[in-house]
Amino acid sequence: MSEPLTFFDQVNRNFDKAAAFTNHPHGILEQIKQINSVIHFAFPIKRDDGSIQVMHGWRAEHSHHKLPTKGGIRYAMTVNEDEVMALAALMTYKCAIVNVPFGGAKGGIRIAAHEYSEGELERITRRFTFELFNKHFIGPGLDVPAPDFGTGPREMAWIADTYSTLAPHDINALGCVTAKPVSEGGIDGRVEATGRGVFYGLREVCSVAEDMRGLGLSPGLEGKRVVVQGLGNVGYHTAKFLQEDGGAVIVGAIEHEGAIAKRTGIDVEALMAHRRETGSILGFPGATDLASRELGLELDCDILVPAALENAITMDNAPRVKAKIIAEAANGPTSSEASDLFFERGVLVLPDAFINAGGVTVSYFEWLKNLEHVRFGRLEKRFDEQSARRLLTAIEHATGRAFSDQEISSIARGAEEIDLVNSGLEETMIEAYHEIREIFKRGGGAYDLRAASMIDAIDKVALAYADRGIFP
Ligand code: GLU
Repeated sequence: MSEPLTFFDQVNRNFDKAAAFTNHPHGILEQIKQINSVIHFAFPIKRDDGSIQVMHGWRAEHSHHKLPTKGGIRYAMTVNEDEVMALAALMTYKCAIVNVPFGGAKGGIRIAAHEYSEGELERITRRFTFELFNKHFIGPGLDVPAPDFGTGPREMAWIADTYSTLAPHDINALGCVTAKPVSEGGIDGRVEATGRGVFYGLREVCSVAEDMRGLGLSPGLEGKRVVVQGLGNVGYHTAKFLQEDGGAVIVGAIEHEGAIAKRTGIDVEALMAHRRETGSILGFPGATDLASRELGLELDCDILVPAALENAITMDNAPRVKAKIIAEAANGPTSSEASDLFFERGVLVLPDAFINAGGVTVSYFEWLKNLEHVRFGRLEKRFDEQSARRLLTAIEHATGRAFSDQEISSIARGAEEIDLVNSGLEETMIEAYHEIREIFKRGGGAYDLRAASMIDAIDKVALAYADRGIFP
């Protein structure tokens, strides 16, 4: 039997399938596919009990066609060189698809983060930043990390602080990492951005009546039955926005400890509170505990949202998946063979590099904010508000009708940072979807939406190489 494909092999298999539908020179395609730089660190840290432990960390920069490179740092036991390479490549394609001007990167430390104290995690994170700095693998114009599985704003604040200490003359030092706490140079709306982006993307996909008809679904998110795998930052926010803003019904949830189902809908906030209290999603009032986690992925539903780690859906379970739409909130959750099967069966897979791109999109906004040294909306908010007030007063004089205070305050409102971030994100997801949908339609059924999004990415990266030439 042949060796199973590694994660990076799978990404490259998807790349090759798409590349066959382009006519870029072979050498350029080869260059786009390669990991431009990858580094492994082994460094010691002192545990709280005084013992010394060797940590293993990696950073892969997949494509330098644009700088800085961008992508998260994950803390998980799955981390190895192949994993960060695959995830870094996905970041290149993701940034291209949503028109974020970065190359792709990804890093990680092989660690079961929950087994370490906060102090230990701080020492590990600061030491890792020091290693990255020494090897020129971090910097606002070089390579800009962000959170991923097992990391969040706290780790980003440690990274920003360590980098600023090491580069005191870099006026843009805070732009060395994104998804920082707002008080440390972060941006409003970054925490929930990936989940919000999945919601905007799904809402747009479901609004196209013709496509929904093809899947045997009615248009709109309202009433769509959704199963979410993974209730971390991405899964939780996706489920929350789908339920609260989209009117979708969360009929199933899957976590480490098991899976639950409830046909009438699971209240996401109540489920999170239940998990905080009991340590488990099982035993949630009104829901059924399923016999295994795996059965959760096979529940009858319209939309399945894998929001955990890679390889959740493979040929072992794909034939039993009943969803009509799979929204890859995680990176690489569907194996490339399983993806082929879904294409044959007419299941719509919304590829990771499109549907979960909301995080990096808002990271881009944060990076711009850091380079501009000013909060979005600060300059124009009051001006916009006053212009709108003057316009309303003119209308009042012309028509003789007076607006109520409530009307005035809702119309004459200058945008806050969060309003600008969310509208920029919404626009990005909608525009990107129609770009890849056009390419998909052009294929006339020859390839799926993943290949369409990959063709889009390949064209854009190839163009960047063509525009600037190759260094002699
Ligand atoms: N780790 C996230 C991703 O996979 C975010 C990356 C970023 O914001 O740079 O897209």
